[in-house]
Amino acid sequence: MTVMVYVGLGSNLEDPAGQLARAVSELANLPDTTLQAQSPFYASRPVGPQNQPDFVNGAVALATKLPAHQLLDHLQAIEQAHGRERLQHWGPRTLDLDLLIYGNDSICDERLTVPHAQLAERDFVLQPLLDLNPELTLPDGRSLQALRRKCPDNRLRLLQPQTGSH
Ligand code: ATP
Ligand code: CA
Ligand code: CA
Repeated sequence: MTVMVYVGLGSNLEDPAGQLARAVSELANLPDTTLQAQSPFYASRPVGPQNQPDFVNGAVALATKLPAHQLLDHLQAIEQAHGRERLQHWGPRTLDLDLLIYGNDSICDERLTVPHAQLAERDFVLQPLLDLNPELTLPDGRSLQALRRKCPDNRLRLLQPQTGSH
């Protein structure tokens, strides 16, 4: 069975926009998975420790036959391949891939909470999801548009798409 899933991407180290662009093509190449759509990228203030660079965030929509935990394995392998180190909770990182929404499923176990636990409080997650699908709702019926209106402001700024060579 094919499921529509949404993955959030974040980076604030070593050319963040480049990290995200590479990660999008790696996600597009996952087995049994096709890339459906890609959001613009945004810059935002970090959550947690403030003494770190701003983040670049985005999201993609994927159609996949992978079960949620297998998809998480792939997301973590891609993070590792990007040199992700876990030094500090909510600290700086080369790449963070969060499984935001997996079809209409609600998952809560030791490895996975889906929809992502902090989704409703993060404009840098809600806005790219709304760019992908303005009608998106959570399995509990809440609309992302309504959540976005109530969400704290993280000084989200749209990044201009990178053009040609630089
Ligand atoms: P946050 O979850 O608040 O965005 P984070 O992304 O910095 O924080 P990580 O260190 O990347 O957190 O991940 C910690 C653990 O979260 C992972 O080992 C993973 O098992 C678990 N996890 C739970 N739910 C999810 C999810 N929906 N997507 C990705 N990881 C998840
Ligand atoms: Ca995260
Ligand atoms: Ca994560």
